Amino acid sequence: MSKFVGAHTSASGGVENAISHATSIEAKAFALFTKNQRQWVGKPLDTKTIDTFKRMLADSGILPKHVLPHDSYLINLGHPEAEQLQKSREAFIDELERCDLLGLDRLNFHPGSHLAKITKKEKEDESILWPIEKACLDVIAESINIALDKTKNVKAVIENTAGQGSNLGYKFEHLAYIIDKIEDKSRVGICIDTCHMFTAGYDIRTREAYDKTWDEFGQIVGFEYLSGMHINDSKPPLGSRVDRHHSIGQGEIGYDAFKFLMNDPRMDDIPLILETIDETIWADEIKMLYSFIEK
Ligand SMILES: [Zn+2]
Ligand SMILES: [Zn+2]
Repeated sequence: MSKFVGAHTSASGGVENAISHATSIEAKAFALFTKNQRQWVGKPLDTKTIDTFKRMLADSGILPKHVLPHDSYLINLGHPEAEQLQKSREAFIDELERCDLLGLDRLNFHPGSHLAKITKKEKEDESILWPIEKACLDVIAESINIALDKTKNVKAVIENTAGQGSNLGYKFEHLAYIIDKIEDKSRVGICIDTCHMFTAGYDIRTREAYDKTWDEFGQIVGFEYLSGMHINDSKPPLGSRVDRHHSIGQGEIGYDAFKFLMNDPRMDDIPLILETIDETIWADEIKMLYSFIEK
């Protein structure tokens, strides 16, 4: 088997609970928050928790490289204000260290937001928008370099976004721009979220569109960086720049894109994580995705 599908399971009550949730839905991969995602400071991981997590993970048969932890939503590595930026950088380093303690090798995060108050008209003018975005991408890259320098083993896996508000990372060019500025390229990766990709304007619904979008990804970013994916359908339409996930096949993307994906060897051996809205059907969604694989 070369596809590793799972879901972002709940770690409430302890990080090890994410593992039991994953095995209960027959997941071969999973994502988790290693601390409360809405708080700046998490309880430090003690030896007992770390040992339990590692033992349960080994027992589950899920490999550490198929676990894709997600950082806190509060972190903005491109924050325009010094104090908030510093807070984000410290929290990000803590997140990387927590992953390392748990024996995990990658951390998924959203690049950051410039938070500039600009009008819709200014937003449509590349000569106004790009300098603002570029400055923020530079700050994000610097944040990642600082964090990688202060930590070890764990890869910083940048997620593409829908481009809602002032969130960056909605264009492949943004991801490539950041990677280009990272000093240790062996410790940077990309996570592509299919919902974000679609609402950012990249179509994957037909064979032709799917091939065109992924060719573009290959040329601009490169598949060697693809370290995980979020497998979500989308409520809003193509190019709407709105981030609202849907269950597989129930949204604007439909089934075909996921059939192409499950038969695409470029997505082998990386965590493929559902963040779909109805967790009561995750087990069915995982089964269905595996059933798409053509023998
Ligand atoms: Zn995310
Ligand atoms: Zn996602």
